[in-house]
This record gives sequence, structure tokens and C-alpha cells, in this order.
Amino acid sequence: MEIGLSSDIPTYSGGLGVLAGDAVRSSADLRIPLVAVTLVSRKGYLRQKITGDGVQQELPDEWNPAQYMRLLPRTVTVRIEGRDVHIRAWFHDHESPVGGLVPVILLDTDMEENAPDDRQITSYLYGSDSAYRLRQEIVLGIGGVKMLKALNFRVERYHMNEGHSSLLTLELMRMNGYDADTAGDMCVFTTHTPVAAAMDTFSYDDVEKALDFPIDTLKKYGGEDRLNLTLLALNMSKYHNGVAKAHQEYSQKLFHGYHIREITNGVHPFTWTSPEFQRLFDRYMHGWANEPELLVRVGKIPNEEIWDAHVKAKAALIDDVHESTGVTLDPEVLTIGFARRATGYKRATLIFSDLDRLKEINRKWPIQLLFSGKAHPHDEGGKQLIKDIYAFRDRLKGEIEVVYLENYSMDLAGKLTSGVDVWLNTPLPPMEASGTSGMKAAFNGVMNFSVLDGWWVEGCVEGVTGWAIGPGPDEPVTEERRRAQELRDLYNKLEYVILPLYYSMEDEWTHRMKNAIGLIAYYFNSHVMMRRYASEAYL
Ligand SMILES: *Cc1c(COP(=O)(O)O)cnc(C)c1O
Repeated sequence: MEIGLSSDIPTYSGGLGVLAGDAVRSSADLRIPLVAVTLVSRKGYLRQKITGDGVQQELPDEWNPAQYMRLLPRTVTVRIEGRDVHIRAWFHDHESPVGGLVPVILLDTDMEENAPDDRQITSYLYGSDSAYRLRQEIVLGIGGVKMLKALNFRVERYHMNEGHSSLLTLELMRMNGYDADTAGDMCVFTTHTPVAAAMDTFSYDDVEKALDFPIDTLKKYGGEDRLNLTLLALNMSKYHNGVAKAHQEYSQKLFHGYHIREITNGVHPFTWTSPEFQRLFDRYMHGWANEPELLVRVGKIPNEEIWDAHVKAKAALIDDVHESTGVTLDPEVLTIGFARRATGYKRATLIFSDLDRLKEINRKWPIQLLFSGKAHPHDEGGKQLIKDIYAFRDRLKGEIEVVYLENYSMDLAGKLTSGVDVWLNTPLPPMEASGTSGMKAAFNGVMNFSVLDGWWVEGCVEGVTGWAIGPGPDEPVTEERRRAQELRDLYNKLEYVILPLYYSMEDEWTHRMKNAIGLIAYYFNSHVMMRRYASEAYL
């Protein structure tokens, strides 16, 4: 449904889209024969403005596909609500610097032949109501398969990256005489949701109105009471996986009777490494970008050069912050970054739980905090979080510098995950299926300080690769104890472990930065991920 190609092409809202983009980038580098299909989302996700008191304003983020890609001459039609909806396709070549190429097809219904409402189907990413979402998913799934066929792609495997695209299985059934086994043999499904409430479902009343497909067959594979796209994808694919080991375990409990495997997400090495570290890695571990396993040799790099690269990345971030907000951050002060979609389970304000304690810590060892992230227009809780951060900023004024950067994007993510000293993540387990921004931090020697959820359960070696907040997912403690331990860890580790290490033992800190590179980045990347998909899921 979404893809993060670059900051100028606003067809993504968060980690799911950036992951799709990284999958494309790694596949091109590795010459994995893959074509990606998504919606053109002409009005983008949203351009975020924030007023002085923290109120998010959402402006359209319109972009012009013709500026970045070419229109293909082929069109296809799908039946929606009894009408033929025409679909055309934009074609974007992602070319790897090492020679591979992956095409990306962006489906577009904004054609004169279509009724005015239908022209808007591919306008807004995750826009509006459930009926609109269903129309989008018909275009993506059914239209996507038809378009690939019209363009003469010979597809052997269809990989559904989350359930949004799972209506594609209906078109595959139709093409194969309604033989579900044949269709399912071609499909691979990756689930990204850890809880049932987060899955896309539609009432059969709406489905019958919108979709031209035998309803009994649909109910057999997509659920009796409501059409559940996750269930449809599970039933209609021969391989299913979660996106981290812990997420595999949650998913296995959620989906009894299905064999859920695990392929941990990753980030694209070159894209998420700052220019300073790119140059350093090129010098000491030539070929690292296409063989990130080489990063295990990070020990060859002298500490001073690691520190120097970090200081430069931090200075570049501080310059950008000054330019966009007028705030002057102190390059000497330990800087904590927190940036991701602004939504409840990410708990962006957890660090402000005890302001007196935070101030006390800051008097001993100064800190400064950088935030960024957009809330979905319908997510009132997410918008409230932004307001709350602004209020905390005001209450801490004169003591702790807190900055909120508007309009989070891939560019901003790259700058933040390379320019801060500590990358904080405090999701409410088990909601963070994987998370990937902490992996970006690791490529830049930025230390993770996070709740043990998603990928961090695998990535964290306490005190070696970073630090954990709260108990692990398997520890048998009550939710209440868990919350209490999270806060204890957050403040105690900051005060007694992280800050003293940063301020008084530069060599020890740099040593841990190397651990982040050599023990996290070498493995948690999308090259490893795509090689695993190729050998474990596609073949
Ligand atoms: C990497 C990335 C994310 C994912 O961040 P998480 O902390 O893993 O949720 C979200 N948005 C953008 C723009 C990113 O680049």
C-alpha cells in the first residue's frame, strides 16, 4: 500500500513503506528479479505543520509523478460497485549503483474515463473511510495483478507485504479456475500487525456492494462474519512470516493452525549510513554496502576516526535544527533522539513521566532531546502526544532543550538517526512488530536505548550493543511491574550508566559505537533480509 522511495515522493507514512523501499533497494543491489506494485497516492500522506502550542495541521502533500517517472501506455480495468474503473501505471526504475534494476509500478485511477469519485481512489494514502479503503485495496490487489499481466511480467511469486494487497489472491483464483491451491502456491504473506484489532476488516454488505467475486468462496478464505484481509492472506499463501522473532511468537499465538515463520526486518545499508560513515567504511571495509557482513571488521577502524565521523554527523544535524527552528543545540551535550509515527503505542512522552527526576539527572549530566513524527489525521491520541511534548518543552524551558522537528520524512530520519548520540524507543509491547529506525542508528554508531520489543529483543546485548528499558517479553511479571521497571530503567540507566559513560569514558563509548556497527548493522539490514526472503520464502 505504501512505499518509501525518497523524501520527494510522499507515498509512505512510516516504517512499513520505508521497509518496502529498502526491499526494492536491496533487491536491485543483489539483482533479485523483483517488481514492486503500489498506489501512486497523488496527494501523498500529509505535510505536517505544527502551531506554537503543538497543534498539528495537515496540508496536502501533492506531488507530480510525471516529474519522477514515466507513464506506461497500458491500462487495465477492475469492477468496483458495478462500474469499470480504469487504471493506468507509472513506471519508476530503481537503479542500483552496482548495476541491478528493480521496477516499481504505481497504479493511478486519475483518468478522464473514470467517474469523479473513482479518479480519487489513488489520491490519499490511508485516506478517509473504510469504503474508500476497500476501493483502494481492490485497485491495488486485483488491479495490480491485472497490470502485471498486461505488462507481460511473468510472475512466479506474489509477496504480500501486509494484508492490504491480499485481494490479489482473488484475481489469482479467477485466473486459475477458482482453484485456491494453485493460487495459494504462488503467494507469500508477511504480517506486520501484532494484535487482531489492527487488522483490516470489512463488512460483507460493503464487500458485496463493491467487489465482483463469489461471496461464498470469499467467506471460505476471508472469514465468515467479516472479510479479514489478514485471514485471506494467511489462507491464500503457502508461506507466512512475522517480522522479528518476538513478533513471530505473538503471531503464532494469534493465528492458531498456521505455521508462522520469521524473517527479521532490515534497513538498506547505503541509504541509512551518513556520508561521514560511508567514507569511513569505504576506506576500511571496502564493499561493505553490498556485503554488510563486512561490518563485523569494524574493529580495524581507530576509535578517533569513529568519533570524528560521529561528531561531523552530529554537527550537520545541529546545523539543520538551527536552520529549521532557530534553536542552537550544544554539540557537547548528549543528545537523545525519538522520531517515528506519532501514535499512542509508541509512547513518545514516556521519558517525561517524572520531570523532577529528569531535571535532576540533567543537572548532573546535561541532556537535550529531539523529537519528530506525524500523527494520522484521524488519530486524536497521536495528535495529543505532539501537544503534550510541546507542553513538556515549555515546562523544561531554560533547563533541558526539547525540540520538535516538523514534517518527519526519510531525509529527516536519516539525519536524526545519524546525528544524535542515543536513539530512544519506548513502544508498548507487543505493539512494535519489528521497528527499523534503531537499525538505522546502528549503521551510524548511534546507541539504542529501547524497550525490549520487536527487533530489539534480538539486537540488544545489555551494555554491549545498547541498553534495554524494562523486562524482556518472556519474563513473567505483571503489567504493573513491567511499567514500573520501565521507568526505573529509563531513569537509572540514563543517570548511572549511559551518561557517565558518555561524559567520562570517551574510549568506552566509542567502543560501544563500534559494537553497534559490528554486532547490529552487519546483520539487521535489508540485504540479509532479502537474501532470506529469496532462499526461504520465494524459492
Ligand atoms: C525508518 C522510518 C520509520 C520507522 O521508524 P520506527 O521507529 O521503526 O517506527 C518511520 N518513518 C520514517 C520516515 C522512517 O524513515
